[in-house]
Amino acid sequence: MTPAPPKPPEALDEDAAARELAELAAAIARHDRAYHELDAPLVSDAEYDALRRRNEVLEARFPQLIRPDSPSRRVGAAPAAGFAKVIHRLPMLSLGNAFAPEEFAEFCDRARRFLGSSMPFAMVGEPKIDGLSLSLTYAQGQLLRAGTRGDGSEGEDVTANVRTIAAIPPRLHGRSPALIEVRGEVFMSKADFLALNAAQERAGGKVFANPRNAAAGSLRQLDPTITAARPLSFFAYAMGEASEPVAATHWAYLQRLRHWGFAVNPLSRHLESETDAPGFQAEMAAQRAGLAYDIDGVVYKIDDLALQNRLGFVGREPRWAIAWKFPAEQATTRLLDIQIQVGRTGALTPVAVLEPVNVGGVLVRHATLHNEDEIARLDVRVGDSVRIQRAGDVIPQVLGIVLEARPAGAHPFQFPRRCPVCGSHAVRAEGEVVWRCSGGLTCPAQVEERLIHFASRGAFDIEGLGEKSVHEFHELGWIRSPADVFRLPAREAEIAGLEGWGEQSAANLVRAIGERRRIGLARFIYALGIRRIGAANARLLARHYGDVETFLQRMREVADPASEERAAVTSIIGIGPAIAEELAEFFGEERNFRAVRELADALDIQPEETAGGGVLAGRTVVFTGTLPTLSRPEAKALAERHGAKVTDSVSKRTDYVVVGADAGSKAGKASELGITVLDEEGFRALLAQGPGR
Ligand SMILES: [Zn+2]
Repeated sequence: MTPAPPKPPEALDEDAAARELAELAAAIARHDRAYHELDAPLVSDAEYDALRRRNEVLEARFPQLIRPDSPSRRVGAAPAAGFAKVIHRLPMLSLGNAFAPEEFAEFCDRARRFLGSSMPFAMVGEPKIDGLSLSLTYAQGQLLRAGTRGDGSEGEDVTANVRTIAAIPPRLHGRSPALIEVRGEVFMSKADFLALNAAQERAGGKVFANPRNAAAGSLRQLDPTITAARPLSFFAYAMGEASEPVAATHWAYLQRLRHWGFAVNPLSRHLESETDAPGFQAEMAAQRAGLAYDIDGVVYKIDDLALQNRLGFVGREPRWAIAWKFPAEQATTRLLDIQIQVGRTGALTPVAVLEPVNVGGVLVRHATLHNEDEIARLDVRVGDSVRIQRAGDVIPQVLGIVLEARPAGAHPFQFPRRCPVCGSHAVRAEGEVVWRCSGGLTCPAQVEERLIHFASRGAFDIEGLGEKSVHEFHELGWIRSPADVFRLPAREAEIAGLEGWGEQSAANLVRAIGERRRIGLARFIYALGIRRIGAANARLLARHYGDVETFLQRMREVADPASEERAAVTSIIGIGPAIAEELAEFFGEERNFRAVRELADALDIQPEETAGGGVLAGRTVVFTGTLPTLSRPEAKALAERHGAKVTDSVSKRTDYVVVGADAGSKAGKASELGITVLDEEGFRALLAQGPGR
């Protein structure tokens, strides 16, 4: 599901903005935790950046609403349990981003305005490596303490682990201040990353999504011997605290870092003027793919440390440095397989399984192929070389194939006709591009979604059985089909023992379930969650069939496209061929039918009450020809108001055929079958025998 685009801040009132800021703070904190503490990001960098930007925009518009826990005041996350804390006396902040030359120019202009200057800046450009920021404190030249960035003001003490990294000097060479804090990036090279993942895979260990997570996961080990075994590299690039000034410019500082024994990225460059930055940016972009490590942009810093000092910080970002990111990346790799994923609504989505390829710093193994038509359009075949694109960090897409590289014998992909999860037959409705699993009620991929619907307000309306508890009970294996819901009362004691439940809630749930054993037919039909059968159509069907046994019997017949019942259901007013088709697909799948049968047997299903009243209750009427005074819709409505079912075709189940002028073959067929034939007058006389509704 694509979320609606956010409203422009001008369109928000204070309440809405406060609500959104609260949501943003919570979401960003959650992502920070996943990223920094668990080394397992939940969203792409691009999505994360978008949340951050949105937060900034709203805070700029509503400064009075800036929260004490605003993400703009924090970087990353608090230390995880198991590590001692390291306090950063000079906060370790992050950088603002630029994505285009104009944004970079705007950054320079902002700094100039702040300084009241008109001079272009001398700068240093440094390739931006996506790793883990580290703070190293040296006292009298000896490594005293190493800390991760953490939330910017408090990180984790990883000193023992850092001592195992060969690229970090345990003591500084030559003269150094009594106290100096050096900052830089721990990272893993592409080759080391691939080798580590291969070894992890063989050993059944954790496979990392990208070199950045691999580096973070390797450094943040409670056991330093594991860190020691991991191939970590380090580039120094910044200064923290210092007991005395060490340089007048950033460039000179980098030279001192080299002398002390640190690796400084050899691609870093002194730029006489900011106008050299676009050229350097292009140069780095061109070199990017050939580098031993991943970079996602270039960091530009104003060289003069006195100016840096004057410029200071705004929020969590320095005014004197910016990260200029590279645009989306493409790559070519081999398509190993096409797998089918089954979504929560039963949609079968083809996914390209790729020979892992590094695209702009991320190891890509999968890309989406959308649907059967897209596969046909691309003519993509297993074994092909495919061009893929990653824009931001969204799911990579297959752009096309390299036809010249197609291996002999590659054949077109056959989209499966069965659900790979449950084996039910797959259906592609006319005019749609998506294949769907028809095993809605029993397919493990869909059953949670179906059960949530099943228990929802318009359906069984079982209080206490919402999304969360459906998920919980499904995970526990307690509910695999709707009938299982009515077996939950037997687990009352177990439910009471679950976290967040307790005896009272469990008893309430059991009572709510018990109360719903008796249910009307319309709700029952609606609760099955058949496509296109909303509450209104469920009511039509319930009124038409009256009781559950008739309904199930007829639905069995409907599955056969040649059956009379298929024609009959199509002619129920309001039910057209498309809906009949959905009913047929649903009940034609034996698994569904069994699940519904089992459910019905566990319940007391009330006949549709509204079908009970009226003189024509339970009778089926067919109109044919032009009646003298009643239009067709009026006649049908009149018959239905008196309890009749109105169909278009005559069969042996028809009770009355009402005939007007120019009637076709239906009148003849009615006589043949011995059905009562009436004219409008006779029809009105029949209605006059009893009250309508
Ligand atoms: Zn399925």
